[in-house]
Amino acid sequence: MEQHLTVDRKACAGHGLCYGAAPDLVDCDEQGDPVVLADPVPEAQVGEARQVVDMCPERALALEQTQPV
Ligand code: SF4
Repeated sequence: MEQHLTVDRKACAGHGLCYGAAPDLVDCDEQGDPVVLADPVPEAQVGEARQVVDMCPERALALEQTQPV
């Protein structure tokens, strides 16, 4: 199953913990809002993606699975 990292822009406080910790998965735009780089998340980076989801103090990040069609 594919894993997708998502950002809830309304919940995000923009302090950059996620893109500081996992710059290969998340970058930021000119406003400082996180932008997901890896979609779907490569299998080898799913553990890292879980860590950034857990580290977000605003619970703005989520890892969602999609079923193969
Ligand atoms: S760690 Fe969470 S609140 Fe902070 S910039 Fe990333 S998504 Fe936003």
